[in-house]
Amino acid sequence: MLAKVVAAAGSRGAVHMSEKRARGASVRRRIAVAAVAAVAALSVVACDSDKSSDKSGKAETSSAESSTTSDGTGIDVDPKFKMKPEYDGASSSDGKAGKKLMEDNQLLQILANNVNKYLTLPKDVPIIGAECGTPNAFWDPEAETITMCYELATLFVELFEDDRDPDPEGAALATTAAVFFHELGHALISLFDLPTLGKEEDVADQLSAVLLLNEKDPELQSYALYYARAFELLGQMEDLSPGSFADEHSLNAQRNFNVLCWVYGSDPEGVGQQITSSELPEERAVRCEDEYQQIEDSWYQLLEPYIKPQR
Ligand SMILES: [Zn+2]
Repeated sequence: MLAKVVAAAGSRGAVHMSEKRARGASVRRRIAVAAVAAVAALSVVACDSDKSSDKSGKAETSSAESSTTSDGTGIDVDPKFKMKPEYDGASSSDGKAGKKLMEDNQLLQILANNVNKYLTLPKDVPIIGAECGTPNAFWDPEAETITMCYELATLFVELFEDDRDPDPEGAALATTAAVFFHELGHALISLFDLPTLGKEEDVADQLSAVLLLNEKDPELQSYALYYARAFELLGQMEDLSPGSFADEHSLNAQRNFNVLCWVYGSDPEGVGQQITSSELPEERAVRCEDEYQQIEDSWYQLLEPYIKPQR
């Protein structure tokens, strides 16, 4: 098991322009901690696998090789792994802003490197930062690519600025990371032909939650809370129509309650204590511990063959 990167305490409150770059570095480390911690826990399952000795050999080799392939993210990279970040160009103001935020914080590199470190992928999977003309993120099952639209990161910054969050850029990066783990859920379902018992959109949210919550890491938990908050804020702006109820996605308000339920259920005596009954009704909360455990167990079971043991 690799040592975690120590998270720098992020400064809170008003931030002057001249401090933005330093704060960005702090956010980057927090993202690294989140992803490393999140996926590292999955390796515990793989250690019990009958393939563990075989895979351990590969892991040691890759670790030795990785020392020469550092790309500055602070995360060792196995050169044969397959998720590859790339940044397309941007021309609109929203596109440029999101691209800069994501690039300055090496967001895609960090997310890709963590997936590559802990999961075996069957082929190259580009993770593409792109200007899409709309805030979005998506897995393309034909091209087999994950696209993270720059406009989505920009939307989240604006959303959290309007919400008077003390660190809207950090909140946006955390939420964008959570969205990436949702898209990773779609990608893994497709690439490994995994069964999905229920709406795939909900199942993808469940993977994001499990990766963020399974180690009870406070930083990770805060990302899940930002993910929930983003859905709550988007839900408040949503003008519900019949089409909203027909959408393959659950309503934003429902996704907020789902993620809050899983945050609470994953750690009721810890971060769960921060969630009030006005945020998560008692009638739902009493079931959340079992609900979270069920989704964590389900995802572990499905991913076990593809998790690489860590030293
Ligand atoms: Zn989705």
